[in-house]
Amino acid sequence: MKQRLCVVGGGFSGIAAAYMASKKGFDVTLVNAAPFLGGVLHSTEIDGYIYDLGCHLLDGAYSEQADVIRDILNYKINPYDALYASVFKGNIRIGSELCHVANSHDQTFAARILFEMLNNITDDCGIQSFDCLYDLLIDRYGKTAATILRQAYQKVIQQDLRELDSVNLNVLNLRRLSFLPDSMAMTLKKILKFDQRIAARSVNDPLKFRQPNSDQGYRTFYPETRGMLGFCESAEKKLNELGVEIVHFARCTKINSSINNTTLDIDVKSETKSMQHTYDSIFWATDVSELASLMGFSEDVSLYNTSVPLVLFYFNVPEASLGDIDYVHNYDEDTLSFRISAPSKFGNDTTPAGMGYICAEVPTKIYSDLWNMPESFAEVIWHEVSKSKVLRDVVTFPGLANVLKTPVSYGLKKIGYTACFNRFCEQFWGRGNIYFSKKAAFSKAYIFEELKNVFDVEL
Ligand SMILES: Cc1cc2nc3c(=O)[nH]c(=O)nc-3n(C[C@H](O)[C@H](O)[C@H](O)COP(=O)(O)OP(=O)(O)OC[C@H]3O[C@@H](n4cnc5c(N)ncnc54)[C@H](O)[C@@H]3O)c2cc1C
Repeated sequence: MKQRLCVVGGGFSGIAAAYMASKKGFDVTLVNAAPFLGGVLHSTEIDGYIYDLGCHLLDGAYSEQADVIRDILNYKINPYDALYASVFKGNIRIGSELCHVANSHDQTFAARILFEMLNNITDDCGIQSFDCLYDLLIDRYGKTAATILRQAYQKVIQQDLRELDSVNLNVLNLRRLSFLPDSMAMTLKKILKFDQRIAARSVNDPLKFRQPNSDQGYRTFYPETRGMLGFCESAEKKLNELGVEIVHFARCTKINSSINNTTLDIDVKSETKSMQHTYDSIFWATDVSELASLMGFSEDVSLYNTSVPLVLFYFNVPEASLGDIDYVHNYDEDTLSFRISAPSKFGNDTTPAGMGYICAEVPTKIYSDLWNMPESFAEVIWHEVSKSKVLRDVVTFPGLANVLKTPVSYGLKKIGYTACFNRFCEQFWGRGNIYFSKKAAFSKAYIFEELKNVFDVEL
């Protein structure tokens, strides 16, 4: 008889976990709190426009992960190597989304950062050896660079890096520092410990930093049609074909685990009924706080969660007015938008013919004026869009096509999380055959790597 596995969570983690498990021969049930698959990858469809929740691209740099996503999409994909840019201190830098902390004209400043980095550099610095993200950045890049990053990220995350656990290094894309001219960065990157810390741009060659085992001729790709909604729809279909039972609108309310198996009480909201199921194992593919509480862990893991509320502004524009840059990250505090992107360029059938759309992601605080009355900020945001180079031509304010508010975009962890999470793992990892991601994985590539660890080693 097939082993029964329950996957909890229907975002990218849950979809990939259910896919991998059913391919391995498990009899899989996927329990998802939302009424649809995809989590933050979902899109909203309004009047012929499919608006993604922010800017999402699928990674082709890791071949195994790309194979799974391509199979989910039945190989209906659009290779698209997006052109990124970043803005810091008013300077636009094309070819990277990272905050470039040293002005390219000020080589003395870059030299100081390099000197501080050299003074401290060790062969490896485990990200869990520091409680606070800011201290980790000082150790990794030196005080000068860490201070600049702290200021720049105040806008992005609306809180202080000193309050965050070091585990957020990956979530916030701070694994490498951008501060040197590319030629010098590339020379230093030949040495492993510098390669792990220093960023160089891949402009004009999107494949420069792909994984050596990747056989793809593109770094990123996108669903051929219907945007990320197309991915979510294909995932639902593919998992059904693989025999996965998908239960939407459902949450676990109780877990009884013994050595060999686990019984879950599942509350299905849409039908206001409760079901009780027994599984041989469970993969928890979403935030562990709820799992910890269901398993009777003595601490409240959710106390360490903090998030960045985001307001998403959407503008419909003529397709021909969109420029070459697809995706700009702006770290300057005198602007409101953090990311401005044009996802309608990545695939087909996401807008009516001849039209495109732009999304501006604006971090804010709950109950701020921007959160309460986003419409009254639309012209200010549009002004930032028109200066962002995502637009080729000047377009008069087209009006706000759509606005969305998400209280949780980047799920961040406060200081103390790693220690608490480790205590949870020590007591509960594998108990009753219940597994979860052991690392805070953000990008789809990291999520996939984590899933492989669990599915290849534990299950
Ligand atoms: C704006 C934005 C842009 C991004 N862009 C990129 C990108 O371009 N490339 C990239 O690689 N990564 C990107 N990421 C990161 C990546 O897309 C996300 O980290 C990833 O999609 C998260 O997937 P997830 O399944 O872990 O979580 P989520 O997407 O949050 O999904 C969680 C799911 O679990 C369900 N759920 C929650 N709690 C329960 C429960 N107790 N019981 C049952 N179900 C539950 C929810 O309803 C939801 O369906 C981006 C993230 C954001 C926020």
